[in-house]
Amino acid sequence: MRINVTRSSMPNFEEYIEEIRDLWDSRWLTNMGDKHQELQHSLERFLDVPHVVLYTNGHLALENAVAAMNLPEGGEVITTPFTFVSTTHAISRNGLVPVFCDINDRDYTIDADKIESLITEKTAAIVPVHVYGNVCDVEKIAEIAARYHLKVVYDAAHAFAVRYKGISTANFGDMSMFSFHATKVFHTIEGGAVCFKDDAVVQEMNDRKNFGIRNAEECVYIGGNAKMNEFQAAMGICNLRHLETEIGKRKDVWTHYHARLDGVPGIIMPKPQKDTTPNYAYFPVIFDGFKKSRDEIAAQLAEEGIFARKYFYPLTNDYACYREFPTAGKEKTPVAAHIADRVLTLPMYADLSADDIDRICDLVLR
Ligand SMILES: *Cc1c(COP(=O)(O)O)cnc(C)c1O
Repeated sequence: MRINVTRSSMPNFEEYIEEIRDLWDSRWLTNMGDKHQELQHSLERFLDVPHVVLYTNGHLALENAVAAMNLPEGGEVITTPFTFVSTTHAISRNGLVPVFCDINDRDYTIDADKIESLITEKTAAIVPVHVYGNVCDVEKIAEIAARYHLKVVYDAAHAFAVRYKGISTANFGDMSMFSFHATKVFHTIEGGAVCFKDDAVVQEMNDRKNFGIRNAEECVYIGGNAKMNEFQAAMGICNLRHLETEIGKRKDVWTHYHARLDGVPGIIMPKPQKDTTPNYAYFPVIFDGFKKSRDEIAAQLAEEGIFARKYFYPLTNDYACYREFPTAGKEKTPVAAHIADRVLTLPMYADLSADDIDRICDLVLR
């Protein structure tokens, strides 16, 4: 049977049906209905953050969060190229210029020591990514942002339920975006959220995702449509009930991989971060000096029906649509380029069986 890099977790069928039953009476299918409200408040409690605004997907959540920073047209935004291309697009599609900062080789998040050298007169914000659920150097980033008066929007798409020194990742920077795509640790089929503390921007965020409409006669932003519908919210309500169990099972998968691959020369595995409660979202392995290259191993696994993924290769500063940008070019981010050429994210999901993990590890080692 085919094994993909991930497999969506789902509540049992009856549980979901029970959750959506009301919708046949209310006929309120979208536009901030009861399910939307319930999920929003549950997430505010779960993520321990004053405000959660829900979206139809994570990308539009991030685009709206960057828009809400109200940055000057053409402003520069320091970000990482070692991410899903959505991060970079969310910056560019707001009329801003992504400036690519290298990553560190410990947890692959933005190298906070290299941010300052990229700051110019035009720098307006920083958009770091908690890649694989690894928490960025939030303290140093906050310190730089305060010193240079920069906004910070975290792409926390991978970091749902992750805590650093006991603080939920929803609380760092000016805003944090989570993706609830079907492939993520917690999902609403498609979906996303923006989290923040500032009471003053709640209205703006809610208006922006609904065409910029404030009330029947007022339109105050050139907004788009990015609302989460009731069926998505219902899936989220169900999935949230089972989240702890799911993360527990992911931890077992993580532990099993480590037991099989620890100490193998040329294989670098994800390490637990200090002071962090992880969510075991991904299992990125770096093949550096191993007997076979990353590409050879990926091809070999695919022949056996195991589809690991090269997250994140290519780097976003190496895509055709960014190559024209003066700030692009993977040679400017050598650590990211090195990792992108060697990383393979192995299958990681709650229901991945011990036998399958053994089969994957046997193939890698053979
Ligand atoms: C999944 C993801 C997104 C986009 O989220 P969608 O919900 O798929 O739109 C953005 N950034 C990163 C790092 C992601 O992994």
